[in-house]
Parts: sequence; C-alpha cells; structure tokens
Amino acid sequence: MEEKILIIEDEKDIAKLLDYNLKKEGYRTVLSHEGSASALLAAKERPHLIILDLMLPGLDGLEVCRRLKADAKTASIPVIMLTAKGEVSDKVVGLEMGADDYVTKPFSIRELISRVKAVLRRAAVCGEALEIYRAGDLELDCSRVLALIKGKPADLTAREFELLKALMTAGGKMLSREALLEKAWGMDAALEVETRTVDVHIGTLRKKLGTQGRRIVTVKNYGYRFESENK
Ligand code: CA
Repeated sequence: MEEKILIIEDEKDIAKLLDYNLKKEGYRTVLSHEGSASALLAAKERPHLIILDLMLPGLDGLEVCRRLKADAKTASIPVIMLTAKGEVSDKVVGLEMGADDYVTKPFSIRELISRVKAVLRRAAVCGEALEIYRAGDLELDCSRVLALIKGKPADLTAREFELLKALMTAGGKMLSREALLEKAWGMDAALEVETRTVDVHIGTLRKKLGTQGRRIVTVKNYGYRFESENK
C-alpha cells in the first residue's frame, strides 16, 4: 500500500507541484488549501505524513501543528513544515511543537522528496508504520486499538487506551494532567472534566497493566510520564 501524504498549502502552484511530484514517487496525496479544517481532515484521513505550510489562511501552520499534536488520533503523524526564508524563529517554534522537519521556501522538489523519504523511514523504524509501539512486554497496536501484554490483550477502555497511547508516544516526556485530558478526552472536554479524573483513570490503567503499569511514573504536582526502559 502506498503511503498517504496530506499536503496543507494555500499557494495552489506549490500545492500542485508537491501533489504531482509525490504522486510520481508513488505516494497517495490529499490536499487542503487552508488551516482551520486541516486538523480534522488529518484525523479523518490518517495520513502517514503531513506537509504543512506555515502561513495559511484561517489557522496558521503552528496552530494546526499544535492541534495535530494534541489529538491522540493525529499526534504520531510526522509533520514537515514549509517555512519562508526569514521565518527562523517560527521554524524553531515549529520544531518545539513537534514538527519533525522543516524545509525553507523556495525549495527544490528533490530536496523535499528526500526529506519526505527520510521522515517516513524514521517513522517506520520508530513505530512500524506509526501503528505499533513497544516497551518491554507491553505493545500498543493502534490500528487494532489494542494494548497487549506478552501478546495477550489487556482489557482497556477506549479512554484508558488513549491515555496509554498519549504516554507511550510522548517519547518519555512528562505530560501534565491537562495535556492528558486534552489528548484522551478531547479539547472541549478538557475544559469541563476535572484533572483528578486523569488520576483515577491512570490508577485503573496501571492495575490493568500489571507489572507493566510501573512504567507509568507519577510526576508530583504535574502529571505523568512513560518509562520505556526495561522494567
Ligand atoms: Ca502559504
């Protein structure tokens, strides 16, 4: 199956150029010409990679990136940002927000394609086509929405699965309770649900994971992080 790439770029000529050349390389493409609906489109399409322009009408690329990374359905999709010359600080912010790479306009199409290939290769090594994450005896299969311990499915609720996924895909980074709420409950719910709800769900999740539950480490007065080192 060819990998699917979502192109979010308002400049039609650049979008066309990307579309044409990526297709020529054997990728499938989806195009979006503005920012505001792009995060939802990404959640629906589940592309393997997103090429995201920084300057967009509606919602700018940084905000789109932030939304992509805050949604459990899209958080693990790698993002290559397109920035214009001189937007250096935005570039730094973009990487901090979780963009995987950036390409400065004007770019050569060869350069961009080679970045696309590199990012996809890296993603495939890290998460086997972005769908499976492992830590010791614990395995998270995102396409089947299953957590497995030594190959046996753990009986998690959808919420617990999303919590575990958010933690496992954070690369060992601490996640605040608020961030976990946003990721597992969604942006809107994050305003209404109390943060201690996260603690309650983490408690049951830990129990269900047995010894693997120890990988979920409490960060006092803040939240949690996932320990992937052998335990
Ligand atoms: Ca633009």
